[in-house]
Amino acid sequence: MQSGGIPEPTVRRIAHIDVNAFYCSCERLFRPDLAERPIVVLSNGDGCVVARDAMVKRLGVPMGQPWFEMKRFAGKHGIVAFSSNYTFYGDMSRRVMDVLGRFSPDQEIYSIDESFLDLTPQPRLSGAVVGQAIRGRVRRWTGLPVCVGIGRTKTEAKLADWIAKHDPALGGVCDLAAMNGIERRDRETAIEVREVWGVGRRLAERLRNLGIFTVADLAAADPRHLRAHFSVMLERTARELRGEACLELDEVPPPRRQIVASRTFSAPVYTPGEMAESMRTYMGRAAARMRAQGSVAGAVGVWIETNRFRTHEAQHNGSATIPLPAPSDDEAVLTAWAVELMRRIFRPGCRYWKSGVMLLDLIPRGSEQRLLFDAPLPETEARRHRAMQTLDAVNGKWGRGTLGLGSAGLRGPRHWSMKRELLSPRYTTSWRELPVARA
Ligand SMILES: [Mg+2]
Repeated sequence: MQSGGIPEPTVRRIAHIDVNAFYCSCERLFRPDLAERPIVVLSNGDGCVVARDAMVKRLGVPMGQPWFEMKRFAGKHGIVAFSSNYTFYGDMSRRVMDVLGRFSPDQEIYSIDESFLDLTPQPRLSGAVVGQAIRGRVRRWTGLPVCVGIGRTKTEAKLADWIAKHDPALGGVCDLAAMNGIERRDRETAIEVREVWGVGRRLAERLRNLGIFTVADLAAADPRHLRAHFSVMLERTARELRGEACLELDEVPPPRRQIVASRTFSAPVYTPGEMAESMRTYMGRAAARMRAQGSVAGAVGVWIETNRFRTHEAQHNGSATIPLPAPSDDEAVLTAWAVELMRRIFRPGCRYWKSGVMLLDLIPRGSEQRLLFDAPLPETEARRHRAMQTLDAVNGKWGRGTLGLGSAGLRGPRHWSMKRELLSPRYTTSWRELPVARA
């Protein structure tokens, strides 16, 4: 430290970007005829609503609404339903993340349609300018609408994004970091505390009993008091709302609707075998997190990427996503799918620097609908479980990759056996299903 100089306090600037009604916006992308129609996306097997656009939300349709119960209502209001098309969403997600990654070398992919970027290294551009640049580029390059929130911490950035989404006057960008204390408090006084990241409905109810109703109330609450009555996590959340960074990139409060695990390698990866190891490691982490929150996954995604800042190296960003034949929290099953997906996209000759896995379509364990014709027989399942245990045991003893799974367990998902009557084409990932333009 230089003598006599006052060290500049580091003000962090974090952006949170999220696609508006992601699954529905994807479906609308290649169906301009649906621009004015309300859209829902259904869970695997066309069971219940897992995504709603703004129009459907205004009609009061809740998340998780069984489709068969609302068919008549849908007909009356012109609601269009789609089967979930995770292959398509996963590919669009990758495209969005790729665009976002160009705005900062420090990116955390938080969910299929959300990402954090550390903007601290570019302090000269105002949040409004960066935010609009991000929105414009994602729109031009992918066709999808996003909102951008900027804050001094991750929690504040996420809140800013919520404000950007709910206040049309802001044009899709809200920079809480640039606001003075009074403006910020005005905003935070108008928002219920349950909108804060990691708070949710039940915790909000308990907070209300303590007289904490709004975001501003939580920000002003005594952190030690919060720790004593609730948790360290809530204390950190309150500190984050005051601009004190407590969460690093890649650190998040539970629970989540998707789980992502990824990392940049310390050295490049050239072989599918090495890449498979990264898939195993990350899936182990992601599956453990998912089990800890008591969920099972309905779909798995992976991605691999070269380093775009190494312009002299061959570039490739690949991703693949697949719906599972049945929801699972079995690490062996999930890993096997991740490795299989990775092998489909791996390009020999590329130096890969980063990879990740994503667990999607999470639902509480025990609530998964066993599809009548698709439910594996219990015996098959037990056998499979034993096979996975053997596999792990052998690999554990003789080294990873000693034994691999053949194609038996990994043939593509049985599309014909899963109810997906309302499925849109795989517009971006299948040559045969590309949209056709006529001029
Ligand atoms: Mg979204």
